[in-house]
Amino acid sequence: MQVTIDSHSGFCAGVTGAIRRAENELQQTGQLYCLGDIVHNGQEVQRLEQLGLETIDYDDLRTIHNARVLLRAHGEPPSTYWIAQQNGNTIIDGTCPVVKRLQQRIAETYNAHKHDNPQPQIAIFGKRGHAEVIGLQGQTNNTAVIIEHLSDAEQLDYNRPIYLFSQTTKSLDEFNQLVEHIKGKISDLGFQNSYFKYYDTICRSVANRVEQLKAFAREQDMVLFVGGTKSSNAAVLFNHCKQANEHCFFITGQQDMTDELIAQCHAAERVGICGATSTPLWLMEQVRDKLKIER
Ligand code: SF4
Repeated sequence: MQVTIDSHSGFCAGVTGAIRRAENELQQTGQLYCLGDIVHNGQEVQRLEQLGLETIDYDDLRTIHNARVLLRAHGEPPSTYWIAQQNGNTIIDGTCPVVKRLQQRIAETYNAHKHDNPQPQIAIFGKRGHAEVIGLQGQTNNTAVIIEHLSDAEQLDYNRPIYLFSQTTKSLDEFNQLVEHIKGKISDLGFQNSYFKYYDTICRSVANRVEQLKAFAREQDMVLFVGGTKSSNAAVLFNHCKQANEHCFFITGQQDMTDELIAQCHAAERVGICGATSTPLWLMEQVRDKLKIER
């Protein structure tokens, strides 16, 4: 059995940056609040909590005073900065630069057109309730239409201009399908005021990973995909992986490796281990080591 860890799997630059900021802060002070899970991976959160990181929610943020609060890579709406500052808290901004630029683009578009007549709609292709999407919607005073599935595009008023953006981790194919769907609606309906601008704001750190991951999966007899159950990126990448190799299994870490799964791996010649942009390398290494130990 040859076990290979995919060299392209693991944290993206945005998550790495936020974790570095947390580690630096914790080294200096030994205590730091983080608003929401720093990464959608329970085991990495646990590791940082052992160093002194404390995960808080929005209710906690309203009651904490004069503390240091880390904002994770997903970014936050303007209201979060305002609430934190009201209580004298210092923000350590771990927002990924790619997400930050997207927030700025949406805010600029919203501010430039909010008084136009007819009033344009900003649409965000993304997962409703996802932290990044909440941060993006906040740039429009929460007026943006969230499109999670193609059917949600029915909420759009095709007689008003539409500006479409995407959550950074969405699938490029699905975004392109949505664009064609909206174009088709506009041309079928022939409305006078229709104006459709769309911006492919999908992070290539994820989009490029799809092809790399599929190529990796195809080379293996069996694949163990390591990811967090709360990570939408893990769900998307796992699906691609599964399409490329039907012998692909989702696990959150070595604790999910049943005797049966280990036996199946041992019966294979080539076993690949890969993960999402929120999967730490150390977790994939643990899976590899367990396979080798339990030989
Ligand atoms: S996936 Fe891309 S945009 Fe999202 S945190 Fe990572 S680097 Fe930033």
